[in-house]
This record gives sequence, C-alpha cells and structure tokens, in this order.
Amino acid sequence: MSGIKLTDVRKSFGSFSVIHGVDIEINQGEFAVFVGPSGCGKSTLLRMIAGLEETSGGQISIENEDVTHREASKRGVAMVFQSYALYPHLSVFENMAFSLSIAKRPKAEIQQKVKAAADILRLGDYLQHKPSQLSGGQRQRVAIGRAIVREPRVFLFDEPLSNLDAELRVKMRMEIARLHRQIGATMVYVTHDQVEAMTLADKIVVLKEGIVQQVGAPLELYRDPQNMFVAGFIGSPG
Ligand code: ADP
Ligand code: MG
Repeated sequence: MSGIKLTDVRKSFGSFSVIHGVDIEINQGEFAVFVGPSGCGKSTLLRMIAGLEETSGGQISIENEDVTHREASKRGVAMVFQSYALYPHLSVFENMAFSLSIAKRPKAEIQQKVKAAADILRLGDYLQHKPSQLSGGQRQRVAIGRAIVREPRVFLFDEPLSNLDAELRVKMRMEIARLHRQIGATMVYVTHDQVEAMTLADKIVVLKEGIVQQVGAPLELYRDPQNMFVAGFIGSPG
C-alpha cells in the first residue's frame, strides 16, 4: 500500500516559486529521506505533507486518501521537532502527554500510551524529570515520544538532530532506525546530511531548488547517479 503520494505538488510564496511540481511515492512502512542543500525546499515539502502549509497545486495522499485540503490534526501525521521545542516547566510525562491532554483523552488511556512510548524510548525512569534534568539525547527522545503517543500513520522528522553534537547524532540516528524497525510506521526524514541519508533511508529523494533530481535506494544512487549534482551530493564517483 502507498504510505504517501505526492502528485505534481507545487508551492509558491507570493510570486516566488519554491516547489516546482514534485512527484514522490513512499510505500507504507518505508523510511524515506529527503536530502538536499539548505533552501532547496525540504521543510516546505514536509510542512505540506503535515498540513502546516497549503499547497499551491497538486495532490497529497496518505494511505490512498486525498488529504490535500484536510486540516493537519486530521491527517494522522506527527511531526518531530528539535528537542528545544519541549515545554521546560512540564515533566517528561506531561510533555509526552500534552497532545492527548489537549484532546481530552481519558486519563487511563494517556497513562497507558505515555508508558508504552517511554518503554520504547527507554525513558521509564525519567517520567517525573524536567527537560533541564535530562541529557541532550534523552531530551530528543522525549520529543520523539510526543509524536509516538499520537500513534500517527506517518512520522515526519525535520532535521531533528541538527542541534546535537556529532557523537550524539550518531547515537540518535541509531535510535531512530531502531524505532522504525520496532513500530514500522511510514517515516519521512529531512536532512542536508548525506551520511544521515545514506544510513537511515530505504528510499532517498534528492532535491535541488524545488525539483526532484533522483529517487532511489541509497546504493542505487551511489552506483548510478542520474546527474552530476546527485553524484556530487551523494559522494559517488559519478
Ligand atoms: P530547506 O528546508 O530545504 O532548507 P525551505 O523549505 O525552508 O528549504 O525553503 C525553501 C525556499 O522557500 C527558500 O528559498 C526559503 O527562503 C523559502 N521560504 C520558505 N518558507 C517561506 C515563507 N514562509 N515565506 C517566503 N519564503 C519562504
Ligand atoms: Mg529546512
């Protein structure tokens, strides 16, 4: 089954066109990485999938349902932000429970979902801690936990590791790969880091100036880049 399908998706800000007719298909359960230099439109694409930004043209489907004009909260997607987006005055539990509390879910359900997410992320011993009492990696796991409790069909990550140091990035990258193996949801991960893309992706989408350059498995792009840009960006001999 299709996880996410973009058909001729376009975006302009005023007269400034930034996404020029993008077609991408991501299978259900697949880990897709959008990679490309800063300013090429990765975040804009992700925000349109999330419903945080309107499209200027084209169609977006999630699991074969047209969601192009559906509001963000009804798309079954959750976005993972950088860890500094946590509420500093709330505990780990309260941070993870936040969206469920707002949705007025029953207390028992909130308890159960936050516990389950904390188990997956090995945060069970830290539920009463404040973000300031956690390490950078733990904070990032809480940010991921906030998405998990919503049980989304699709996880969207926008450069979630970019404010972590190099060593922690490697650890968190493995953590995210493990999460994907464990829960098997469709995931889209945006990065400008080729190494992150090559190690995490089932499928890489290479973008340049709002145009898809190539889509393929990491090894396919490495062995058979379709142009000099892809070759240069992926670091293959071309
Ligand atoms: P990336 O995430 O790949 O770095 P973005 O999607 O953030 O790129 O941005 C793509 C282009 O769209 C950039 O030229 C950026 O300046 C422009 N852009 C993004 N958001 C807006 C906005 N709200 N208003 C005007 N221009 C924007
Ligand atoms: Mg961006």
